[in-house]
Amino acid sequence: MARYSGAKWRPTTKHGYGSTDTNSVKRVIDHSAEGYRGGMFAVLDGIRQASWHFSVMQNGEVYQHVDTGQISWGAGSFDANNGSINIEHEGVKGQALTSAQYSATLKLHAWIWPVHNLGTPSRSTNLKEHKEFLATACPSNRIPWSRLIPDLKTALAPATPPTPVGDGIAYTIGPEGARGLYGVWEKLGKPQNWDTWLKQTLLLNGWSGTPVLQIGQVIQIPGSAPAPTPPPPPPTPVDPCADLKTQLAKVTKDKEEWRQRYSTIMTRYDKLKTAVLAASRLAV
Ligand SMILES: [Zn+2]
Repeated sequence: MARYSGAKWRPTTKHGYGSTDTNSVKRVIDHSAEGYRGGMFAVLDGIRQASWHFSVMQNGEVYQHVDTGQISWGAGSFDANNGSINIEHEGVKGQALTSAQYSATLKLHAWIWPVHNLGTPSRSTNLKEHKEFLATACPSNRIPWSRLIPDLKTALAPATPPTPVGDGIAYTIGPEGARGLYGVWEKLGKPQNWDTWLKQTLLLNGWSGTPVLQIGQVIQIPGSAPAPTPPPPPPTPVDPCADLKTQLAKVTKDKEEWRQRYSTIMTRYDKLKTAVLAASRLAV
């Protein structure tokens, strides 16, 4: 079903159990070869009933011997091999994986996972040691799980491109900044962390390769533009008619007061007049 493009194809005919040779992959079983390239290939080419899908060499080379859709003979029994991808690591007990070997096996594991839809990498389900299926020391504690599992998870995490924050500042490269983006970053007071800043800067400016900076060049800087200074509150408008209005109000008030007084006096006057008229009639 699947061959890894990062591996050299070096097949063996030793796979399958009679007519049963469909590997419905559920897990990876990691091994220590307890030997080196020559011995490993001799086993694959010999009569011993042993094979495996992948060999990861100490120099970082990877070989594939059995298609992952077929069942290899790496873990000692049908039950162990059925549903497994067997990976042998060149070297012997006491040897840590070399740096190249570690990187290669990490990449190989990261290729296997989505191809066979294995879900979250976990020691309890899909990342196994040979000795969990058979009385053997294999893989001789050579698999650095505490490093491999987090690295694998990271490798499997979908790559999220940094989101440009927009509203970046347009920065004109001066002589001090022309020595590189690092210079620009320093000049701007080292915003965020360098890696994120650089990625976002490259993205914002549409650079895919190594950017060439020149004096006078304008680049967009990621990050929010500084908050604009709020405008000062508008001054209270001075009303040139304020005094006149005050005076007018007072006059209006006085006028009303006088109107009321006048009204009161006129009422009294009317009453008096009526009384006087009444008295004069009596006198007639
Ligand atoms: Zn083994």
